[in-house]
Amino acid sequence: MSTLFISDLHLTLQRPAMGEIFLDFLRGQACGAEALYILGDLFEIWLGDDAVVDEYRPYVEALKALADNGVPLYFQQGNRDFLTSSGFEAMTGARLIDHHTIIDLYGTPTLLMHGDLLCTDDVDYLKFRAMILSKEWQDEFLSKTVAERVEYGRMLRDKSREAMQEKKELIMDVNQDAVEETMRRYQVRQLIHGHTHRPAVHQFLLDGETVTRTVLPDWYERGGVLVCNENGCQLQALTSN
Ligand code: MN
Repeated sequence: MSTLFISDLHLTLQRPAMGEIFLDFLRGQACGAEALYILGDLFEIWLGDDAVVDEYRPYVEALKALADNGVPLYFQQGNRDFLTSSGFEAMTGARLIDHHTIIDLYGTPTLLMHGDLLCTDDVDYLKFRAMILSKEWQDEFLSKTVAERVEYGRMLRDKSREAMQEKKELIMDVNQDAVEETMRRYQVRQLIHGHTHRPAVHQFLLDGETVTRTVLPDWYERGGVLVCNENGCQLQALTSN
């Protein structure tokens, strides 16, 4: 049995093949897992639990089927699906976990994060993040009609696309000092996160000990999953059959 980690699927109608790979994954490999952790940005945009668009229904249902089958399902919010709440938990059977969550991964305390909080060079983004995670902003946003939220979401996406093009490549990656400070604060030697779309296993020395930071892949060109068991962890690519 193994524990699976995925993130950054950014499910959207623009990449239908990825949606199919995800459904195959949920009905296949994930069924045999000890647990499945989704570390954020499963959806391109989540506008509230009361505003689920039709294109997301098959994924929501497949997640629920997996949870009903007895596979523990955990969801950490990303910067695209931070409006997931108790309604999302009910419809998918997934349990929401904190932005910083430590699990015991086969004997190794492991910190799980989406990853955006580690990109501390992106000061503008972190300011924006603080705003959208505030209760005031969320209450106001969720009081809008679904149509208004869709419109706002479209605007945000265009804005983020522009911002990404303007920013230097370097800024979008994690800040190593932030990584080290976070791992020290949570006293872990293993960190798993997504968000940067730079899949890799980084090993480095922290206070004299070798520590590991594993970055999950996005699901743009192909899917990917981190598979962990007693023997360790391995990044696996997923393609359509
Ligand atoms: Mn992200």
